This record gives sequence, C-alpha cells and structure tokens, in this order.
Amino acid sequence: MFCPRTKTALEAVSIGDVKVYLSKSGGVFFDNRQIFHFSDPSLKPAQVLVAHLQTLPTEHVDLATRINCPKCPDVVMMRRFFTPLKVVEIDECPNCAAIWLDHGELEKIHENHLTPKEREMLRIDMANNHGFIQVKIPKRSYSVHAEKPEPNATSSLEKLAELAYLSILND
Ligand SMILES: [Zn+2]
Repeated sequence: MFCPRTKTALEAVSIGDVKVYLSKSGGVFFDNRQIFHFSDPSLKPAQVLVAHLQTLPTEHVDLATRINCPKCPDVVMMRRFFTPLKVVEIDECPNCAAIWLDHGELEKIHENHLTPKEREMLRIDMANNHGFIQVKIPKRSYSVHAEKPEPNATSSLEKLAELAYLSILND
C-alpha cells in the first residue's frame, strides 16, 4: 500500500498485536476500526505510536486535497470529525472503514480525548444547549387550560438535567 499524500510505500509496523501502516510523512493508516486501539491516550500502544510519529519529519500536505484509500485505490476517503467536540478531522474510507491520519492528527485526538464520564456530561450539555433533550412531562388530569403552555415545563426540565448532572458527578 502507498501513502495517499506522498505516494511512497507505507511501512507495516506492529504495535502490541496490532498492525498499522506508517508513511515517512508522519501519516498513519489504520485498517478497519483498529484506530480504537490508539485513540485513547491512556492506552500503552497509543503512547508508543504517538511517540514514534513525533520522531518523523513534518511534511507539508494540503488537507483540502481529497485522498484515495490506500487499501481501496478507487475509493475517495471522506473527511469527517473524529471526536464529539468536532475538533479533529480525519479521513475515513466509506468502503472498508479504514482511517487515515495525517501528521499530528493522532496527537490532536489524544488532546481532545474524553473519558466516558466527560462524554456523558458533554452529551447532557449539548442536549441542554440545543433543546434536543426529550423529557415527558406528565399531563395534569385536572388541567382545564391544556392549550396553554405548562408554567412548570422549563423548571422541571432544568431540574431533571441538574439531577442527571449530579448523579454523574456522584457515581
Ligand atoms: Zn478502503
């Protein structure tokens, strides 16, 4: 396989028991889903790989140039966000789900890594800010003004979100 940026041969390297493919430009190719062995900075293979990538020279690449999958040369990779915070953009093959990271992108993924708890807090936060949260407010059987907005709707919603936050913080 060849580096989609520099067209030079990719070098297969085993880290732990997972094989990744390195470009001399500091890019790295992960076969199907294997990036998840390396995306969490607390994992040893992730630390080893980043340390190695940092020793490689930085070659300027134009990230706006679309690249083809090293494994499926006819398929153009899709540029998409890797992290929920929408900071790091990566290239993913729509055919084989392989992922290509350019120089420095694995470090950025590590910097923006969220623990499961942080992920959950972010999810709640996003739900609160954009109104996506779905909370069923029980209808009052005695209400004769059903067509009017519930005066307590907002405050009970806030209370629920608050409780969700607290239960996460306490677990
Ligand atoms: Zn592919």
